[in-house]
Amino acid sequence: MVDIVQTGNPVLRKKARQLAIEEIRSDIVQDIIVCMRDTMRKAPGVGLAAPQIGLSIQLIVIEDREEYHEKLTSIELIDRERYPVSFNVLINPQLTIIECDEINFFEGCLSIKGFQAMVPRAKSVRVQALNEQGIPVEVNASGWYARILQHEIDHLNGVLYIDRMNSTTFSTFENHEEFWRNKK
Ligand code: ZN
Repeated sequence: MVDIVQTGNPVLRKKARQLAIEEIRSDIVQDIIVCMRDTMRKAPGVGLAAPQIGLSIQLIVIEDREEYHEKLTSIELIDRERYPVSFNVLINPQLTIIECDEINFFEGCLSIKGFQAMVPRAKSVRVQALNEQGIPVEVNASGWYARILQHEIDHLNGVLYIDRMNSTTFSTFENHEEFWRNKK
């Protein structure tokens, strides 16, 4: 586990470089994947991009565990189309928007600790990438998983949610709970 880089660090604003297949299979990258998985789980978060641990490479990890859903009502889960996603690694991802309808929900980022804002995201996306073995994979996702993918792949392009948010909704976690939780 390592510390998560916070906003203001230039590494979060750089375009990350792609990884070659031989690099993906190297011990170094395999160790980075384990480190990112453990760091994401410890946070806890549902996704982590390599720039968030200070590495400007195109590598993201995602995992949305059922236990993270306990604070949400069943209506909130349905509204968000949020369902568990098992641990997965995506390298050199290419994102295609499938349904561009904008869906607005609050989201946060482990690199902007303590805040949330309403961020419009496309409803469904397709991602073509390599997995941790360097094998091509395709992910078709809608709802919350599509949101996570868009958020994490933005990190690889030096983009943060604050670049896309509805800035008048930018809130601390406490104010989000007090003033926004039940609003859409
Ligand atoms: Zn983030």
